[in-house]
Amino acid sequence: MEQSFIMIKPDGVQRGLIGEIISRFEKKGFYLKGLKMVTVEKSFAEKHYEDLSAKPFFAGLVDYIVSGPVVAMVWEGKGVVLTGRKIIGATNPAESAPGTIRGDYAIVVGRNVIHGSDSVESARKEIALWFPEGISAWQSNAHSWIYE
Ligand code: UDP
Ligand code: MG
Repeated sequence: MEQSFIMIKPDGVQRGLIGEIISRFEKKGFYLKGLKMVTVEKSFAEKHYEDLSAKPFFAGLVDYIVSGPVVAMVWEGKGVVLTGRKIIGATNPAESAPGTIRGDYAIVVGRNVIHGSDSVESARKEIALWFPEGISAWQSNAHSWIYE
């Protein structure tokens, strides 16, 4: 089944939003398949965001991601990549609808609390980068209550 890489950024950790964010994905019916708190090195953050290396905000973005621990997660479910992006909201919190994570908990683009993969292909790459050790194979007993 489809998987997405979701990361609570250092501001989300510092502001005590871990439980709230996990709750939103969990209550939706997605399965948590990988979870760890980690403080990454600059070179690792640069690798994660390598597609954005030419952007003017790149250096600030990397400094932000390495500024404290993040919570790295793998969530699984039908359509989790696209639906995850909807749960998260637009990149700029000023344009994120209320009810989304960024719409409810963030104000500026440089402190937007959470990352989510933008495609199935980037999810695959990001999961391989963040979880080289692999993820859990557990299966939820609620499956037939969530899917028909
Ligand atoms: N970002 C920023 N300034 C910008 C655009 C993006 O600081 O003008 C940061 C922001 O933290 C964003 C991250 O760079 O979440 C990655 O940008 P992307 O366009 O991939 O947005 P996302 O996929 O996170 O919505
Ligand atoms: Mg992105």
